[in-house]
Amino acid sequence: MAVGVLSLQGSFNEHIAALRRIGVKGIEIRKPEQLQNVTALIIPGGESTTMAKLAEYHNLFPALRDFVKMGKPVWGTCAGLIFLANKAVGQKAGGQEFVGGLDCTVSRNFFGSQLQSFETELLVPEIAAKVGGPNTFRGVFIRAPAILEVGPETEVLADYSVPSKNSRDSKSNSETQEEKFVSEERVIVAVKQGKLLGTAFHPELTADTRWHSYFLKMAGEVAEQSSTSIVKEEYL
Ligand code: GLN
Repeated sequence: MAVGVLSLQGSFNEHIAALRRIGVKGIEIRKPEQLQNVTALIIPGGESTTMAKLAEYHNLFPALRDFVKMGKPVWGTCAGLIFLANKAVGQKAGGQEFVGGLDCTVSRNFFGSQLQSFETELLVPEIAAKVGGPNTFRGVFIRAPAILEVGPETEVLADYSVPSKNSRDSKSNSETQEEKFVSEERVIVAVKQGKLLGTAFHPELTADTRWHSYFLKMAGEVAEQSSTSIVKEEYL
């Protein structure tokens, strides 16, 4: 299986290194025709406006949209998730084109600026069930988006509890424990819809390769299905 990694900007090298650690060669994608050589694609984190401008410059959007429409497996991490989401709102959502296909609404820079970047343990029962290992995963959030809404076909794989925006913004010093609890808000940080996977955090920046293995499992399933349908067509 050939896994492409969109290599315009951001953490593409880190994804290729993570793939290498599980014995898979990642192929750098910079031109539309290179997508024909791969069966699955990773869109890395970085800065989505910059990445979108570069994708536009290299005329990549039609080929990227076709890749998604063909049902091929695509995983977006952080800015890559913004690329895949059907709708992006929030700071600097300045109307630039993205790829779309993943039925969810993301809020860009939901957790704040670079200074509010953080790491946390996420509960990942789906990863533990399908790939093994512990029930938790170290989530690295860098100017990360959050997923605010999902469509009926979109499965939630992980969420995270944050103080609500109001309580983060207010300088209230009279908050009781109970008020703090009530003001917490759960946001979604990992989703799957068919062969599309989106994570708001950066698994490629950790030593834990289980999200990469999970994505490859998803991708393997589609490879099997499409080879079966090719065989069927030959016998029609
Ligand atoms: N906030 C960034 C954006 O809008 C994404 C950050 C990231 O990929 N680490 O593109």
